[in-house]
Amino acid sequence: MKRQQAVLQGSECSTCGAVGFPASEHCARCATPTAQPRELSREGTVWTYTVQQFAPKSPPYVPPPEGFSPFAVGFVELPEGIRISAILDCEDFTDLTGAHAVLVATEPVPRFAVKPHTEEVNG
Ligand SMILES: [Zn+2]
Repeated sequence: MKRQQAVLQGSECSTCGAVGFPASEHCARCATPTAQPRELSREGTVWTYTVQQFAPKSPPYVPPPEGFSPFAVGFVELPEGIRISAILDCEDFTDLTGAHAVLVATEPVPRFAVKPHTEEVNG
C-alpha cells in the first residue's frame, strides 16, 4: 500500500528569506506581508522534548482506541532554522535530544518518527 508522504506547509518571506510555520502571509521576522507558501523539510533533529505522562485535556486531545499511554512531545528543528512543535514517535524516551527525526504525519498535529542517536548494528 502506497501512502502519500506527509509534508508540512510553511511559508518563506520573499523580503528577508525567513521561513515560518504554520504558513502565514506575514513574515514573523520582518513583518512584511510578502511570505509565500513553501513545503518544509521532512527531516530534522530533536531540539528539546518532554514526556506526556497523563492524558491531556480532551478536547482537543483525542485518545487512541486502546487508551492513553505516555508519549513524547517536543520541538524538531528543521534545516530551515525553525522549530516545529510535534509528537515524537519513539521506542524509548531517553536521550532524544539531538536525535534524527522524520516527519510521518501532519494531522491533527505534526508527528515525527525519532531514530536513536547512534546507528546500532544488529547481528
Ligand atoms: Zn521577512
